[in-house]
Amino acid sequence: MQPKLIIHGGASSLDDKGGLNSVRQSLHQIVQTTYDLLLQGGSAVDAVVLGCKQLEDEPRFNAGTGSVLQSDGQVRMSASLMDGTAQRFSGVINVSRTKNPIELAQFLQNESDRVLSDYGAAELLRELNTPIYNPLTDSRLKEWVEERKNDFSRDMARLIADEEAGRGTIGVVALDQEGRIAAGTSTGGKGFERIGRVSDSAMPAGNYATSMAGVSCTGIGEDIINECLAARIVIRVTDGLPLGEAMERSMAESRENQRDLGVIALDHTGAIAWGKTCDIILAAYHNGTTIGDTLEWHGLGEELSGSC
Ligand code: ASP
Repeated sequence: MQPKLIIHGGASSLDDKGGLNSVRQSLHQIVQTTYDLLLQGGSAVDAVVLGCKQLEDEPRFNAGTGSVLQSDGQVRMSASLMDGTAQRFSGVINVSRTKNPIELAQFLQNESDRVLSDYGAAELLRELNTPIYNPLTDSRLKEWVEERKNDFSRDMARLIADEEAGRGTIGVVALDQEGRIAAGTSTGGKGFERIGRVSDSAMPAGNYATSMAGVSCTGIGEDIINECLAARIVIRVTDGLPLGEAMERSMAESRENQRDLGVIALDHTGAIAWGKTCDIILAAYHNGTTIGDTLEWHGLGEELSGSC
């Protein structure tokens, strides 16, 4: 079957639209290289890992290199991977000093203990002889110093601050030639949070897939958890709702409940969908013929979702 792919680089309020062109460039380039892997027969899981790694390595996004700092000035990252065919979830919570948290989630796919938190994740890094890596960037440090002056008054770190800084959590959902679906999500968290706070990104609320559909979420993790959003959309599709309608209904409920979030999804028929209750979701997709994105779709209008 024709492979499909959607990726995101976060969702939030938009301070400054100036950075959008460079965001578009990097999202499109990552869609292209990841889609090429699917065209060569790569599995949905491998495509998700490849896409997530590239997004983690791109400092403009809040995952891997360029992760936001927590209230104590430290980077703690979370990531998860779900293989929809095996219906198997794995992930790491609040891991530090590593380049690609999604690789740890990938390793844990084949373990009997599949979600590890801080100390356990650090032990695993040691066991795997993973090189120590500092994901801190100058612009994230600058942002933290600025926020500290205001006693961390923002709900979330900025999505777009200037050409180099800002942007959000990342996620990838893929459908491969065999019709298999996988989803992956990776984050530095909300930014400026209390030590030990757990993100939705390494929970089935924020990242979920079955053989029917896959979803990756971004936005305020607490809101995503309260909606159990990723699992909710997948279950709606499993129960027979077309993906576009499952997205629309879930976004209407999220808006009703005053949640601040964004989401990408695809299903086993090859339908692709996205949704948001916040200003913007930085998403791009490959629908088999062309690459498209959601970057022109911002503001808190009536429209809560889109699909193709
Ligand atoms: N959902 C992430 C969290 O709350 C943040 C984000 O998506 O930017 O940890």
